[in-house]
Amino acid sequence: MKSIRMVEAGKPLELQEIPIPPIGEKDILVRVRAAGVCHSDAHYRAGRSTMGMMPITLGHEVAGIVEKIGAQVTNVRVGQRVCLHYNITCGDCYYCSTGNEQFCTTVKMLGHHVDGGYMEYIAIPARNAIPLPDEIPFEAGATLMCASATAFHALHKSRVKAGETVAIFGVGGLGLSAIQLARAMGAIEVYAVDIKQDKLELASEYNAIPVDASRMNAVEEIRKLTKNKGVDVAIEMIGLSRTMEQAIESVGNLGRAVMVGMNQQPVAINTYRQVLGKEAEIIGSNDPLLQELPLLVDLARRKILDTSRVVSQVIPLDADKINQRLDDLEGFTNDVRAVIVP
Ligand SMILES: [Zn+2]
Ligand SMILES: [Zn+2]
Repeated sequence: MKSIRMVEAGKPLELQEIPIPPIGEKDILVRVRAAGVCHSDAHYRAGRSTMGMMPITLGHEVAGIVEKIGAQVTNVRVGQRVCLHYNITCGDCYYCSTGNEQFCTTVKMLGHHVDGGYMEYIAIPARNAIPLPDEIPFEAGATLMCASATAFHALHKSRVKAGETVAIFGVGGLGLSAIQLARAMGAIEVYAVDIKQDKLELASEYNAIPVDASRMNAVEEIRKLTKNKGVDVAIEMIGLSRTMEQAIESVGNLGRAVMVGMNQQPVAINTYRQVLGKEAEIIGSNDPLLQELPLLVDLARRKILDTSRVVSQVIPLDADKINQRLDDLEGFTNDVRAVIVP
């Protein structure tokens, strides 16, 4: 079968013919119908992360049709539409058995440690498959597994509850999902902070209150809008020290600031004024959990989470076209969310 693979760090991906993978008793073989091209893939291709094997097929946002099932598989059937949770975990270790599979001692990520979705067929443990209802196109199902799922996990980590206020810093794919999911989880008001006009307009269309950080101090504006209370929850999805500091500063008493954007730089915090004095919390949020995904898919099916505007481009399983999209993501030259449809 055709596979678009990373052969060497820092080099363009290449087309390789590889055999269709065999499956074990608890695995399924999925015919890939959509694979999202994610910003992380650009990092992997550039060699900024250690890969589990080489060459490797990238792609951790995958949806498709079950082609074959192992002898012990009971949760899905052949011909079923599915989307795939990207972290393959053991289910048995200390972390898995206490409900924290993100710390599984043998976790393997699709398209990072094992072959991912930039190919025609993928083998994966059946427990990673979530049924994808007919109402959700494969392209949307694939992207649900990364950006929307990460936003959902961050909101769970924030413990947002009905009647609370939420500020989302950064209105990209993550932010747009976070705005809608925060509402679905009971947030009474959602503020969307960004510096780009078009993104703020989009946020308004999803009933968020835009805060234009290019023209005003986001923290002061949030204070004003919340009658000096600050928000209950702030979620940082950009990955800049400055916006992380703003997110922390924007929460009120008992507020929770959740860090989602990736940032290796230090962040300045006044622990007395910003944390202790307010009994505020700074919370880290990383990968989504398998157990969060069925509800996420159902929210998309019910259009409580609108996925119709996430995917802006469909490309074939073609090395040149995929490399081009990864170049765009690398250089931030083009904001399109591309999905490969083999
Ligand atoms: Zn992704
Ligand atoms: Zn485990």
